[in-house]
Amino acid sequence: MAEILLQVKNLKSVYKTRFNERIIAVDDVSFDLESGKCLGIAGESGSGKSTLAMSIMGYYHPPLFYESGAVYISGVDITKLPYNQLREKILGKEIAYIPQAAMNALNPTQKIINLVADVMKEHVKGISFNDVKKIAEERFETLNLPKDVLQRYPIELSGGMKQRTVIAISTILNPKILIADEPTSALDVTSQKIVIKLLKNLIKRGFIKAMVFITHELPLLYNIADDIMVMYAGEIVESGKAEEVIFDPIHPYSNGLMTSIIVPEKGIKGKKLIVIPGAPPNLKYKLEGCRFSDRCLYAKDECKTSKVNMKYVNNSRSYRCISQVDELKEMYKDGKKPATT
Ligand code: ATP
Ligand code: MG
Repeated sequence: MAEILLQVKNLKSVYKTRFNERIIAVDDVSFDLESGKCLGIAGESGSGKSTLAMSIMGYYHPPLFYESGAVYISGVDITKLPYNQLREKILGKEIAYIPQAAMNALNPTQKIINLVADVMKEHVKGISFNDVKKIAEERFETLNLPKDVLQRYPIELSGGMKQRTVIAISTILNPKILIADEPTSALDVTSQKIVIKLLKNLIKRGFIKAMVFITHELPLLYNIADDIMVMYAGEIVESGKAEEVIFDPIHPYSNGLMTSIIVPEKGIKGKKLIVIPGAPPNLKYKLEGCRFSDRCLYAKDECKTSKVNMKYVNNSRSYRCISQVDELKEMYKDGKKPATT
């Protein structure tokens, strides 16, 4: 059996605002990440993807607070580690994080090589600049990035090149796990493909062992993820093998994400686009019943009030809906009216 590198158990994280609000942005999230795998996390804006990523990294700084649950990284529950130990032993080495929009946060006054040196010197005591240069050049070459990028300033690089550079810098210490938060969102389709190829290459070459890839575009995950978790309003609403979740979604929200897009290869001819109505709930309010029920085309009266737990179809497939799989599939068929009670 493959080694589990990251295990998240019933994790709950809360923003406590200066207006005395409690925003439960990550609510009872659990999953395992095995060596060799890429887990894709999809969900629209505000679903809690970045907060989950920060929580896994132990970045609990006000207004974000840990509430409950555990995050095991290589067997250590990092929620129990003091931040200095977390920083010394885990961050950057066991797990690295590329925050959303990181490519726009590169220090504009430093050449890329100096940014690589900053990362390396923090973790490899006494390493010389020449060694940094040698390691960086070798890594950039292996990843098909031109070496001369190292001598440039961030402003001199295109968006795609900047993102590839950020990925190369973040993984220079060969962390076991990489969390990439929306690494392709600001890029054109060609650059997206190149970035995805680079990320896959990192696993193939053994520079990293596993990855979490966050995006708001569920279909994009087909190109990279082995498994997918769909998040909505802080909760996981569906998880399973990438192909199953994309081509045969169970949860009405995942189904909505897939029916509201145009598949470029197939064009729009003959395809009915069904947009998910409404907007996600405000997480500062206590939410009863299914969080998606207000927007769900297939909601029943009881969905508004009944708490919905994850249901397991098999070991790898689960969903959070009171309806049964067959019932949902029937409702998704063309021409069928949404169920009413
Ligand atoms: P996006 O796709 O826009 O990046 P996301 O899925 O990453 O969205 P988060 O940024 O994790 O979502 O936000 C989850 C929830 O937490 C949202 O309701 C958001 O408004 C709230 N939130 C995020 N940051 C803060 C903060 N600093 N203070 C209070 N609430 C916050
Ligand atoms: Mg985000």
